[in-house]
Amino acid sequence: MDYRSALEVYKETVLLYVKEGQRQVNSHCADLEPWQIIGASVITTLGAVYIKGVLFQQESLTSRVKKQCFRLIRKIPFVGASIQNQLNKALDDMSLSLCTLKEGMSYTKQLPSKGLSQSQVMDRIREYETLSKHDSSVQWEKGRVSGAVYWGDESLTKFLVKVYGDFAWSNPLHPDIFPCVRKMEAEVVRMSCTLFNGGPKSCGTVTSGGTESILMACKAYRDMAHERGVKYPEILAPVSVHAAFDKAAHYFGMKLVHIPLVNNTMKVDVKAMKRAINGNTAMLVCSAPQFPHGIMDPVEEVAELAVRYNLPLHVDACLGGFLIVFMEKAGYTLAPFDFSVKGVTSISADTHKYGYAPKGSSVILYSDTKYRQYQYFVAPDWQGGIYASPSIAGSRPGGIIAACWATMMHMGEDGYIETTKKIISTARKIITGINQIEGVYVFGNPEVSVVAIGSDVFDIFRLSNALTSKGWNLNTLQFPSSIHICCTVLHTQPGVADQFIGDVREQVAIIMKNPSEKTTGMGAIYGMAQSIPDRSMVTEISRGFLDCLYSTEVPKLNTSHMNGNGKAH
Ligand SMILES: *Cc1c(COP(=O)(O)O)cnc(C)c1O
Repeated sequence: MDYRSALEVYKETVLLYVKEGQRQVNSHCADLEPWQIIGASVITTLGAVYIKGVLFQQESLTSRVKKQCFRLIRKIPFVGASIQNQLNKALDDMSLSLCTLKEGMSYTKQLPSKGLSQSQVMDRIREYETLSKHDSSVQWEKGRVSGAVYWGDESLTKFLVKVYGDFAWSNPLHPDIFPCVRKMEAEVVRMSCTLFNGGPKSCGTVTSGGTESILMACKAYRDMAHERGVKYPEILAPVSVHAAFDKAAHYFGMKLVHIPLVNNTMKVDVKAMKRAINGNTAMLVCSAPQFPHGIMDPVEEVAELAVRYNLPLHVDACLGGFLIVFMEKAGYTLAPFDFSVKGVTSISADTHKYGYAPKGSSVILYSDTKYRQYQYFVAPDWQGGIYASPSIAGSRPGGIIAACWATMMHMGEDGYIETTKKIISTARKIITGINQIEGVYVFGNPEVSVVAIGSDVFDIFRLSNALTSKGWNLNTLQFPSSIHICCTVLHTQPGVADQFIGDVREQVAIIMKNPSEKTTGMGAIYGMAQSIPDRSMVTEISRGFLDCLYSTEVPKLNTSHMNGNGKAH
């Protein structure tokens, strides 16, 4: 029997069922009038569209339901008021600790009606500086602070200020007026491409910082996804990835899908990332290294996925970019992470971190000019003229670009290799030191400059409190609770690492005498902030924190929250 006649049999059976279906539907509708049938069809269609709209949104259904529940709880009369009281108290405390001025100081709220002389302004500045110079202020110059200032060398500072001064008025928005700054920016990008093994088509732009570099890559890949017809483009990134990706998703109408880490290595789970890939995926992300625990994600493995599924892959090397490119020459091995890995399409690296350039500069690099196109913005019909700009800003600080260029030229490969050697050896020394202390451990195998510390025996935020009282200023991390130190050139000064290890050893020994004691102070607040299930409250307090920063009201000393004798003045 040939296959045609076999198909005929199936066809006849199907037709039979279709006929029977038609007959049944018609008999059900026999008593209905045409307007009823049409009306029911319209209503069901609209209903289906509505339900689809409710179910499939940028934010997941569970997250929206959770938020709504907490919103309802806040509406319950006494509960809501009591929560609000607690929030207000937290905000008052915060404003007291952040915005307290010295005796006799006040805020300037209006322009001086007659301008001050330059020396008068300088006098004012000296007065403001007393705010940060007191006994309990944090001594970043002595390597007491994690990250934040990556060098701060005095002679480099003087040099940068001179260069900035020469270019203070320049603006790369006008390359015809400032051709020199254009050349410098192009060279900063080219030198960076070369460091990351970019090919002849590699390219990029200078941005105002890591966040803008990341925003630009996400924007480019979002536009590529839109072009493919994707409505809600998704970013697949490890949970350890920098919050700038959350910001990008928020700004650009994308969805950030967090991929879990492999438990003890803290590297992204590549299998989980593979499972998360779908038709909406706009980009994959790896960090080299990530901020919380300083771990390098498996770039090569994720790049394989990127190639297989034809997706762009961004490597966030904002933090350690200007260390990892020198590590091999400094005598430390790393798995490949740059454009030499097939599949890596963009890299962000902060010149204002380990590039030692002044704050406000970073680079975003692409393996091919075809990706950079999507980053650009052009308004061809503006009355002010055809407007084309490479990144978020319009006018940009030529002085910062010049200072960045000058730093790179002054440091040179030998300078960067030297600082890289010092920083990595300091971080390795700290890792070895911490691993020898009973009661604490180091997260994963940090290969670069960040060392994260945790404990299974006691609340690590107690150690954080103890180290703060010893003059250290570390980063506190959550989910899971941990603290980290990010080593910079300042920590390579003689004695700093030993002092740190010594202080940790001493304080852990004290804590271990009573490991289950309750955490107090700031440490308790970090712990509590993590355990609040209603994240909208944490958001609210954080917004209050930002409000505080712009406050020009001298906070009222509210004696009701104060312990002690209330002798506030
Ligand atoms: C610092 C950092 C960024 C970007 O931060 P900016 O403060 O905007 O420069 C991005 N990713 C990582 C891993 C970082 O450490």
